[in-house]
Amino acid sequence: MRRKLVAGNWKMNGSLAANSALIAGIKAGLPADVCDVAVCVPAPYLAQVQGEVAGSAIGLGAQDISAFASGAYTGEVSAAMLNEFACRYVIIGHSERRAYHGESDDSVALKTRVALQAGLIPIVCVGESLAEREAAQTNAVVGGQLDVVLAALNAEDVAKIVVAYEPVWAIGTGKTATPEMAQDVHAMLRAKLAAKSAEAAAKVCILYGGSMKPDNAKELLGMPDIDGGLIGGAALKPADFLAIIQAA
Ligand code: PGA
Repeated sequence: MRRKLVAGNWKMNGSLAANSALIAGIKAGLPADVCDVAVCVPAPYLAQVQGEVAGSAIGLGAQDISAFASGAYTGEVSAAMLNEFACRYVIIGHSERRAYHGESDDSVALKTRVALQAGLIPIVCVGESLAEREAAQTNAVVGGQLDVVLAALNAEDVAKIVVAYEPVWAIGTGKTATPEMAQDVHAMLRAKLAAKSAEAAAKVCILYGGSMKPDNAKELLGMPDIDGGLIGGAALKPADFLAIIQAA
């Protein structure tokens, strides 16, 4: 049985004061051992949040990683730096990075390898736009994004990744894929993982992301191939984030 993972993606939100209040609120209500929990925070706050989650069950994550090890790459954050702050997870290929920062499938695959080599758990994001869904391209687009990552990994490494299916049209819009729509895509992704390694496919958590909220989490998380959530907006409110954790 896969253990579920609920990961908050704070995106470019927060402040020293807001982060403290948010982490304190989550810690105060965190149920014992319901599922794995993580917060993926902006890079400048890694040290702060590392300190504040220490000794709790909350895992720390980053929102991106450089494909390069070190050197003249202004603005980049390396795997070694993430490790210095005891990161466990790193989001890779979020649709906002694909859309606004030119992140390509090849770059996502390379960064996934870099993360794995550093002992980090990559949360590899895939998802289709509304136009692609309406053109019945969802499986081709989303499956194709995963294919490029899988081609870059051996079976042993595939077992260590987390995949997040995030339909772009559902992110931050309040529109959620129905549990059945999400399950269809998750099952397709699971089949792709299985084609690489049946053992890995059984282990890999496939998260759903895109307007997951307390009122829809239970249904989504009840689907056989939905192993958790990557939560944006609702991860910024302790009560909402905790309710989603409870639903897992
Ligand atoms: P949302 O964001 O929950 O605000 O839709 C999810 C994400 O982009 O990871």
